[in-house]
Amino acid sequence: MAGGGNAIRGSRVGAGPMGEAERGEAAPRQAVTYFCSHGHRSVVTFAVEAAVPESWDCPRCGLPASLDSENPPPAPKIEPYKTHLAYVKERRSDAEAATILDEALELLRSRRKSGDIIF
Ligand SMILES: [Zn+2]
Repeated sequence: MAGGGNAIRGSRVGAGPMGEAERGEAAPRQAVTYFCSHGHRSVVTFAVEAAVPESWDCPRCGLPASLDSENPPPAPKIEPYKTHLAYVKERRSDAEAATILDEALELLRSRRKSGDIIF
């Protein structure tokens, strides 16, 4: 899931061997807070050059969350006939896909730099 990688990486900053500690600080990042209709506050971290989506699925309850704490999006109606794959495709925005790609490239670059992978 998007966001999970950031949390893991963030908690390891300073804890790993030399080189790994620098990995999380390589790209400048911005923290964006989303609010869902259950009142959860979720801080999602994006690369500063990434477009920040107007809505994000709450990591705690899965409901859509918005940037506006006064107007969280309403819970969507459950549509049981939809397949899981169709549901995932529908929810994945271009911005999210770009963020995932950015994360993957960043990880690949840092691995090459630190020599974890031998080509
Ligand atoms: Zn929530």
